[in-house]
Amino acid sequence: MTHTDTIAAIASAPGAAGVGVLRVSGPAVPAIAAELFGRDPEPRRAHFTAFRESDGELIDRGLLLYFPAPASYTGEHVLELQGHGSPVLLDALLRRVCAIGARWARPGEFTERAFLNGKLDLAQAEAVADLIAARSHAGARAALQSMEGVFSRKVHDLLQSLIALRVHIEAAIDFPEEEIDFLADPVITQQLHALRAELDALLHEAQRGVRLNDGLRVAIIGRPNAGKSSLLNALAGSDRAIVTDIAGTTRDVLREQLNLDGIALELADTAGLRDTDDPVEREGVRRAHGELARADVALLVTDVGHAEHDLALLADLPSHVERIVFVNKIDLGDHAVGYDVRADAIWVWASAKTGDGLEALRNHLKQLAGAGGGEGAFSARRRHVLALEQVAVHLARADDVLQATRAGELAAEELRQAQHALGEITGTYSSDDLLGAIFSSFCIGK
Ligand code: GDP
Ligand code: ZN
Repeated sequence: MTHTDTIAAIASAPGAAGVGVLRVSGPAVPAIAAELFGRDPEPRRAHFTAFRESDGELIDRGLLLYFPAPASYTGEHVLELQGHGSPVLLDALLRRVCAIGARWARPGEFTERAFLNGKLDLAQAEAVADLIAARSHAGARAALQSMEGVFSRKVHDLLQSLIALRVHIEAAIDFPEEEIDFLADPVITQQLHALRAELDALLHEAQRGVRLNDGLRVAIIGRPNAGKSSLLNALAGSDRAIVTDIAGTTRDVLREQLNLDGIALELADTAGLRDTDDPVEREGVRRAHGELARADVALLVTDVGHAEHDLALLADLPSHVERIVFVNKIDLGDHAVGYDVRADAIWVWASAKTGDGLEALRNHLKQLAGAGGGEGAFSARRRHVLALEQVAVHLARADDVLQATRAGELAAEELRQAQHALGEITGTYSSDDLLGAIFSSFCIGK
């Protein structure tokens, strides 16, 4: 893909800084570089030079770096100008570059060109944005892994297995008289089952990748006065939520971004879940239910006397939501601090007020958020998880069809659709709408 226009943008963050960076990409770069430098710059070499207006007036002094295509970020000729980090100077420099032969870049346009030129695939391009936006060390590390292609390679491996199986089955279709026997071959079933297992593992890793990227979403629920706001404050280490003795104080949903030892959490303190006639409170309860629908974890706050009864609040949750029962206020009774893995939920006995027993909760949340994923843990987006879930559906259907009817055509069609869904992750198949949605959320200059 060759672009005929040349794009330019300030790549460093807005505002005053020690150094500011201007980036230019496209066919006009050699001409722009020669005009600014007075002669052709040497590739990949830092030249200290004066940046001047066309009439010779000095704009700034700084470094000029020239990366000829295709060995550059975008795959095109790229010029990087480093000057003083003054918005005024950088703006003047940008105008000068555009006057010679470039236009302002749209958000994400450099990375979009890198994608279109095959420098990185779509999942890697998304990881670039996620890396820049990372809110925790674990998130940044994971995004870096994805940018390096760890996730993409796994998708690619899965794709290879899928294609091999498709070829196998489609070969059988081409020989109708032998098709039945061929499809009965246990090797085909084994291959398909191995593929499904491989996919399940990747889906799990991708789900963890989303949590590492977005932060674990925890919805705190429970009766009014159970201690939800107190727990939020204890975890956040501040008094952001309002703690009072009057039931029903937290009427809106309070959100807190938290960084637990390098792991990102998003805590939402919801209104108490109880039937109520107060319209304002009822709205809070409605939002609490909405919060649960988008949460990774439902954290039920209760106390020793109500625990079994309140457990009903955790019923009817989607199966992917992790459940934690936080039995609060043990400082008032004689129950000990504790932690128990039960079938219905993880149980923690603690006190939000004194902090006793909170460490177990913190550790568990960190595990759920993706800590301990190891060196290879990669970031992912919800879009990727949805695509992998689609793949899982098609593989399950192919499996059913083969077991029940040995209808090779139908199985082959399911595999074809599975392959398409996988290809959407890395951008083998992508629409302009998808690309637009992805790259428009980037910063300018990236
Ligand atoms: P919410 O309505 O669920 O958000 O409950 P709050 O966090 O506002 O707490 C209600 C009351 O319980 C407040 O008076 C808190 O100080 C008190 N409380 C919360 N956690 C504890 C605890 O662990 N021990 C004791 N003794 N009191 C607590
Ligand atoms: Zn509250």
